[in-house]
Amino acid sequence: MINVAIDGPAGAGKSTISRSAAKELGFIYVDTGALYRAVGVYALRNGIDSKNADEVGKSLEKITVELKFVGDVQHVFLNGEDVSEEIRLPEASMAASNVSAIPAVRAFLFDLQRDIAAKNNCIMDGRDIGTVVLPDARIKIFLTASPEIRAMRRYKELVQKGAKDTYEEVLSDLKIRDYNDSHREIAPLKPAEDSVTVDTSGLDLEQSVNKIISVIKEKMS
Ligand code: C5P
Repeated sequence: MINVAIDGPAGAGKSTISRSAAKELGFIYVDTGALYRAVGVYALRNGIDSKNADEVGKSLEKITVELKFVGDVQHVFLNGEDVSEEIRLPEASMAASNVSAIPAVRAFLFDLQRDIAAKNNCIMDGRDIGTVVLPDARIKIFLTASPEIRAMRRYKELVQKGAKDTYEEVLSDLKIRDYNDSHREIAPLKPAEDSVTVDTSGLDLEQSVNKIISVIKEKMS
């Protein structure tokens, strides 16, 4: 199977770019952030402190998380319920970032990610795909952009969905998540040694997708 690992900070455009590139290549696109978000949603719904490793760890016994593909669209299920919309709320982002620092949560979601990659040609995006989940992936890309540009993209997405968050709130949340993701002890966000870094700060969506596809095709040939 051909596996493409795309890692990078929140809002670098990983999901939009990976989805388009996967479509063009005929691969499935796997958004691993959705898995951490589903665990975060469980914590939010059940009044569990998402930073408390013991409480979150215990709750894993009561959780099943599954990914299903409807056509080429990924849906995430929490205990059998499709939570694909709910996981996108800003509070779910922060809860996901918190639970993702807990080793038991990472272990809980590991096999699921490995199994999908073993069975499918895929582009899988996340924070530790090239470094931990798929260290043998044929192609590894580290996708990044400046915090301000990433926050502006996220802000526009949220406004379109009717959210009331300000740009400053989005920027500050994103910086906290960047800090958490790259400073946690387990699987911190960092480029894999054998990854290609692509900075999308000066690129629009189409240019970013073209760049990623050209990196993938070059590595495949
Ligand atoms: O990519 P997304 O923003 O949806 O991810 C939500 C959170 O899940 C991230 O802030 C990060 O803390 C965590 N995550 C992770 N490892 C992954 C994917 C996401 O730790 N592979």
